[in-house]
Amino acid sequence: MTAKLDVAGLSVTFGEGSRAVHAAQDVTFSVAKGEAFGLIGESGSGKSTVLRAVAGLNAYAGVVALDGAPARRPRPRAFFRRVQMVFQDPYGSLHPRKMVRSVLMEPMLIHGIGDCDRRVAETLVAVGLSPDYAYRYPHQLSGGQRQRVAIARCLVVEPEVLLLDEPTSALDVSVQAGVLNLLDGLRRARGLTYVLVSHDLRVVAHLCERIAVMTEGRVVEQIDADAIRAARCRHPYTRALLASSRGWTRSAASSDTAPA
Ligand code: ADP
Ligand code: MG
Repeated sequence: MTAKLDVAGLSVTFGEGSRAVHAAQDVTFSVAKGEAFGLIGESGSGKSTVLRAVAGLNAYAGVVALDGAPARRPRPRAFFRRVQMVFQDPYGSLHPRKMVRSVLMEPMLIHGIGDCDRRVAETLVAVGLSPDYAYRYPHQLSGGQRQRVAIARCLVVEPEVLLLDEPTSALDVSVQAGVLNLLDGLRRARGLTYVLVSHDLRVVAHLCERIAVMTEGRVVEQIDADAIRAARCRHPYTRALLASSRGWTRSAASSDTAPA
């Protein structure tokens, strides 16, 4: 399979001189078409920085390439037709005075996509909401429903790659599994490519086939999820992560069901 998204030698530094923070250092990974790739590490390890750099939201050194073509900075509009990002906080990411319908229309207007009302209805159904949610405001939605709307806002442009930054960590535990299962189903149904960032090994192992482990801005290990589940990881940090989620199994996570 050809790699769809390549990140090579990616480094991000915030600040200068003695105050410089090397948030990402020489990060390299490739994500194949249709693959779900996880980026895991504790808070402050540089996961969001890497994802934001991939989206072109942070200045960086190194290369981010889509289908082998290096992405320019600032990213051209066409890039966001293909690559969309879901943020952690569905409360902060939806404008409080915009109805769901206009939230979903906006990216279609930006990218010159027509037939908006039909797409709004279809996309709401695809994320597990009924079409009449188009006429609601964010304050009339639960956290899980807001995150579903944020996911729908990405999907209306029919992207190929979703960058997901802790997409469920701001949600109640009872609704997390529902949103994760939705993401899993969407990827399989649409052949989407995911880069999923999380500090939670369970979330990443539930959704991803391969995982990069970050600590202090560096990728210290790349493993496949089966190895994680079988506890076949080498790096002490990965082992510690695993130990802290002992007792967890994929089947236990998959059997969780939750309402929107
Ligand atoms: P994670 O997502 O793994 O929790 P981040 O990528 O958000 O980690 O942060 C990595 C490091 O970079 C942290 O030390 C953080 O304080 C720092 N950092 C992130 N964004 C900025 C910024 N805009 N300016 C200065 N430092 C930043
Ligand atoms: Mg983060």
